Amino acid sequence: MRDSARVVIIGGGIHGAALLYHLTLEGWSDVLLVEKAELTSGSTWHAAGQITRSVGDYTTAQIAHYAIETYEHLAETVGREMSFHQPGGLRVAYTDAEVDQLKSQLGIGRYIGYPIELISPAEAAELNPFYDYTDVKAAIWTDKEAHIDPTDATMAFAQGARANGAEISRRNRVLEVNQLPSGDWSVVTEKGTVTCEHVVDAAGCYAHQVGLMSGFSVPQANVLHHYLVTEEVPEFAARPDWEMPVMRDNRVAGYIRQEQTAGLIGIYEHAGAETCWDDGVPWEAENPLFPEDYDKIAPWLAEAFERVPVLGEVGIKRVIHGAITHTTDAHMLLGPAPGLRNYWLNTGSSIGLAWGPGAGRELARWIVHGSTELNLRHYDPRRYGWATPEFIRDKAIEDYEWMFRVHAPGEERMANRPVWTSTIHDRLVEKRAMHGQAYGWEQPKWFVPEDQPLADAHGWRRPAWYAGVQAESAAVRSAAGVMDLSAFAKFEISGPDLEAYCAHVFTGRVPKVGRIALNYALTPAGRIETEMTLSRIDDETVYAVSAAVGVQRDFDWLTRHVDEPGGPVFDVTIRDVTRDHGALALAGPNTRPLLAALTDADLSNEAFRFQAVRRIEVAGVSLLALRVGFTGSRGWELHIPMEELATVYEALFAASDAGDHGLVDFGSHTLNALRLEKGYLSRFELTHDIGPRQARVDRWLREDGGFIGADAIGDEPTGTDWVLVMLDVDVPTLADGGADAADCIGSEGVFVAGTDDAIGLTTSGGYGFTVDKSLAFAFIHAEHAEPGSSLDVLILGERRTATVLDGPVWDPSNAELLG
Ligand SMILES: Cc1cc2nc3c(=O)[nH]c(=O)nc-3n(C[C@H](O)[C@H](O)[C@H](O)COP(=O)(O)OP(=O)(O)OC[C@H]3O[C@@H](n4cnc5c(N)ncnc54)[C@H](O)[C@@H]3O)c2cc1C
Repeated sequence: MRDSARVVIIGGGIHGAALLYHLTLEGWSDVLLVEKAELTSGSTWHAAGQITRSVGDYTTAQIAHYAIETYEHLAETVGREMSFHQPGGLRVAYTDAEVDQLKSQLGIGRYIGYPIELISPAEAAELNPFYDYTDVKAAIWTDKEAHIDPTDATMAFAQGARANGAEISRRNRVLEVNQLPSGDWSVVTEKGTVTCEHVVDAAGCYAHQVGLMSGFSVPQANVLHHYLVTEEVPEFAARPDWEMPVMRDNRVAGYIRQEQTAGLIGIYEHAGAETCWDDGVPWEAENPLFPEDYDKIAPWLAEAFERVPVLGEVGIKRVIHGAITHTTDAHMLLGPAPGLRNYWLNTGSSIGLAWGPGAGRELARWIVHGSTELNLRHYDPRRYGWATPEFIRDKAIEDYEWMFRVHAPGEERMANRPVWTSTIHDRLVEKRAMHGQAYGWEQPKWFVPEDQPLADAHGWRRPAWYAGVQAESAAVRSAAGVMDLSAFAKFEISGPDLEAYCAHVFTGRVPKVGRIALNYALTPAGRIETEMTLSRIDDETVYAVSAAVGVQRDFDWLTRHVDEPGGPVFDVTIRDVTRDHGALALAGPNTRPLLAALTDADLSNEAFRFQAVRRIEVAGVSLLALRVGFTGSRGWELHIPMEELATVYEALFAASDAGDHGLVDFGSHTLNALRLEKGYLSRFELTHDIGPRQARVDRWLREDGGFIGADAIGDEPTGTDWVLVMLDVDVPTLADGGADAADCIGSEGVFVAGTDDAIGLTTSGGYGFTVDKSLAFAFIHAEHAEPGSSLDVLILGERRTATVLDGPVWDPSNAELLG
């Protein structure tokens, strides 16, 4: 085994092997994979091997699509026989919500360009006559969908990687992983020590134990899953030229397919799922399986036999009961380990045959080139900085049990909540708040009106929260509203080199003392790493605020560039002060008199201009008041010591009552609606696969450059000429009988009007209640982005006309905002 390498990958399952291969494709051949036993001897060998394109987000769809395309050619490319079948896939729907879920996947498929059709039960019966479609309303048909022998796939990647110069060291356990003073890594194995630039934890069920060697936890748990293989089915044996499509069915809670001439049934039980190895996987385990437990899966297995009666007539030949890694939110862990330079995670994968190849390609790009071509934000391991082992375990079970359930947008998963709350959380609950979760924080989504049942609402079609949010929106625009935004990520950047540091990391102006400037940080590849609001407190201090999900990721980015090897070194200190400060967004035309009733500070427009920051006293509490806001209405963001948040919050309502200012509570649904009206971008538009010109934030780029990524601006990801547009979508308004219509929520396909020519996807959308318009943001091919252009958007399978806007639909002149 070599004693140095550019990259060492720990773990030879599908994820490790696919990454090794893709690193060589990106041109790095000095790469080593270390496997403690034989390749595939973790979870991979016992996978059922299915890959589906029936998925709900663009990145995951691209990754699944890439897996199928890769497997179609891998045998030929690497010169190795593989068992790979493409019988197609059918996912059936029994309820209107399930039908909507399937329809919501059509646009992504059309844009990427793979076959995906919504078909009737009668059409489904022609494709699979052995299925009982009783009560089925519709099905999605994905032609050429596949299953692969997992060992063949892993061995093929290994063979291809070796042929390109990579090395694999088998029967060699990694014992320690230590960072050297140089920043390189020392990987201690049973067969010697290797020094490397990058290390990757791809250790599957062992990934947490491997992470602990370097001092961090891996937020995943191991959940047990069954599949069963039947005896030969005579009806299958009689049709040698036909293979049953892979069936997916929520009532079966799983999948049913043909395995040679037998049947194969996998169950993701809706209740009673169990984790294993909570205290660690025994290092000596190889190809581990667990005793079968028919009681656990009985109801769903019985349903499977009802649905495919020919399987009920033969016996069970083999049962596989093995462990799969699950995270808390159905997404793997792909990207940098928290707080560590050049340590990467490639684990937490519950569908490794489908995700492994694409994960390997993207991570190889990230390691070799410093950036990916797909947006991996929802896979970033740093989306957790807050999760306890109990939270991870309970949510992983929940994640598993939800694999075959309908997922409606906005639906909350309540296991192990709340984790973090602000000090006014209970008060907001008393006031009928429904909360969502943002980086572990409970964040109000909406306040249920008194005349509605006290329950959350969700769904693809205008849910029951619309009426409440319409009232909240109107109150903010016409009077005043307040929202608990304590979940915001908050950092203090301080030190003598503040200006030079900020100029290096951020694209825009470093604000003068007392002023605020919106800023972007770019990756070295010139794509958007993050957006932050910088408030200059004094000569040596900036208070920086970014989206809640960015706490760990942004902190890593800020700290990493203080003294990046080979880069400039700055005398600044970065502090994460997220949990020290609560934050209230105060928005609306009445906020000035309202706030004035509680402070002696001069809030006049002359004294406290837009984008100014002051430390003021409100209701006797010293706080930071930032004259900015995400609603687009006039107002302030108040950043308040967490223990004093309630004092200020209650004082605002008391002052509103006394002065008749009409203050209401509002939540993130209203915030989203108002920012859409104002054309403000969110984290769904600002992702690390997108350049600032594509997102049209180039007015925040300093002309003299000098910031990270400046030289690469304009090098857009290959094959895309995306540009961001705002769309006014022709959906019936609320006033015009549109109560049950559907607005865009993101991932809807955009087409040249009247054609099947897919030109982009929406990133986010919703209803602008105070302008009575259905609105969306979309990245589309630049040639179609001219304002006024008429396009089509596919919402739940229905085409809607959409017009490209040339600016915000609310307060385009900023008169309200600046007034
Ligand atoms: C019953 C069942 C059915 C499934 N069906 C499907 C399916 O149909 N489709 C699908 O896509 N997925 C399926 N899966 C999931 C799939 O098996 C996993 O997602 C995938 O195998 C994970 O691959 P991995 O490379 O992350 O982990 P693993 O395959 O577990 O690989 C990790 C490797 O790391 C090695 N390792 C650990 N620690 C060390 C160390 N210290 N030093 C050196 N090596 C180490 C281990 O020995 C192991 O080989 C199924 C899983 C189960 C249990």
